[in-house]
Amino acid sequence: MSLVIAFVVLLTSLGATPTNPYPIDILIDKDHCLKNVIEVENIEANIAVEKMIEAAENDGIVISINSSFRDVPIQKELYKEDKANVAKIYCTEHHLAGVCDMAYPGHPPYHDSVQNKAIWKWLPVNAHKYGFVISYPEKHCPEWPKSNRIIAACGVDYKWEPWHIRYVGKKLAKKIFDAGYLDPDTKVIPQDFYVSYRVYYNNYSPAQPMQISFQYAIAHLFP
Ligand SMILES: [Zn+2]
Repeated sequence: MSLVIAFVVLLTSLGATPTNPYPIDILIDKDHCLKNVIEVENIEANIAVEKMIEAAENDGIVISINSSFRDVPIQKELYKEDKANVAKIYCTEHHLAGVCDMAYPGHPPYHDSVQNKAIWKWLPVNAHKYGFVISYPEKHCPEWPKSNRIIAACGVDYKWEPWHIRYVGKKLAKKIFDAGYLDPDTKVIPQDFYVSYRVYYNNYSPAQPMQISFQYAIAHLFP
């Protein structure tokens, strides 16, 4: 195998491609914000979400996508409206393709509508079969559900969002599922399985996705 082919195979296996520079397992949270946002399609995720919605329907559960990719102006607007509950620009998974908030059609994705509750039960059991994880799973905490905000004492740094799913591919989704991330008594969360590399936050340039992907690949090989 030539070096070039080996390199392309390596990048593909990491989920980074010239058109989708963000690796599938990139960590994004309030401490790991992006420098740029590029709207790219994740065809694989689009197909997977359609399949998942169909499977839910076969089980008698109606699910729709309430929100998905958000560009910077949209996120800025949402943040302005609700600073307590919405992530700042560049720091939300909604800047990635393949991230969706799910809900019953016409219902906002709130915790306690009856129609949504059936979805919150179906999604955790089934999402990984289609390559998705619940990014912010429920964790037991004496303060919940009274307070669902960031509670360091409970070992989590987010509020429970049963509607927010992220496509990470079937392999990684299964790994996270098998690790027991849905057990409210464990501290296992999907973010434990993601990677953050300085190159993505400090040096990312949309004009040079392959170069950055190469740096990412090297970092991935020699963490
Ligand atoms: Zn969300």
